This record gives sequence, structure tokens and C-alpha cells, in this order.
Amino acid sequence: MKRDVKGKNQKDVFTKRVMLTFSRRLVSKPVMYRLIKEYDIAINILFAKVLPNETGKLVVEFSSTDEKKIQKGFSFLKSLGVKIEPISKEIIRDEENCIDCGACTSVCRSQALSIDKETFELIFDSNRCVLCEMCIHACPMRAISITF
Ligand code: SF4
Ligand code: SF4
Repeated sequence: MKRDVKGKNQKDVFTKRVMLTFSRRLVSKPVMYRLIKEYDIAINILFAKVLPNETGKLVVEFSSTDEKKIQKGFSFLKSLGVKIEPISKEIIRDEENCIDCGACTSVCRSQALSIDKETFELIFDSNRCVLCEMCIHACPMRAISITF
């Protein structure tokens, strides 16, 4: 859940979006709670998944009016063995192959993909994308790919 930082304009807030990978023993620990309470960081969990080997993956947006608090939070996570990767991947749509069928929108839980109600064309909002890759498999035209 995203928390507002009291008394500050949104433009004064530092935001970092990262992917966290953590081991089974941390899945049930209150790690996010401690980041909020002890490090005063606003947390927005964009995507969460526990893999078959019980490794957890989260795409998280961290926000704070003080960038150092985010760095301290990252140090805390690293001390627990959490792997932190900046989000550098990107979803790409091949506009020539896309037929605006909308199949990808039904699997996009973050609503990064939608169909324009007036033009019936696909709209992609990269700011909402959490890189879950569900749309890649849903597209019958293979018009969506991911870059690394
Ligand atoms: S990867 Fe595709 S399905 Fe997942 S959030 Fe991004 S646009 Fe939506
Ligand atoms: S599923 Fe593929 S063809 Fe259909 S709207 Fe999405 S990107 Fe376009």
C-alpha cells in the first residue's frame, strides 16, 4: 500500500522501483512492516510472486522525502540477504503486428494495458507496468516482447 508523506508535495518525494528476490525463510517475516515503521519509507508493492522453489519475488516502489532513508532501507534488506535489482527491463509492443484485440488487457492486473474507448486502440502505460510478462504469453500475434 502506498503511504502519503505528510506535509510534502509529491514532487519532493524520491521514488525507486526495484525487484526484490528473497529466500523462503523471509516469506513470513514482517520485512515490509519494518521498512515502513523503522525506516519511514512508503512502500507500494506492484507485483508479488512465490516461485515453486519458494523463493519470493516482489516489484516494489519505495518513496521518501529523504533519499538516504531509502538507501538505509536497501542496506537493511541486503543485511537480510535480499537481492535488489533496479528495474531496467522494458515491455515493448510491436505496433505493426498488434491488431488491438485486447487479449493482453485481460491478464494485465496493474492496468498498464487498456483499450481506448473511443479509438478501440491499445494503450500502454509503462509507468503502471510491473513486468510480470503475462501479456507476452496472452498475445496471439506475438506483438509484445521484453527488453533486457
Ligand atoms: S508485463 Fe504486461 S501484463 Fe504485466 S504489468 Fe506489464 S503490461 Fe501488464
Ligand atoms: S494481445 Fe497482442 S494483438 Fe492483441 S491488443 Fe494486445 S498486443 Fe495487440
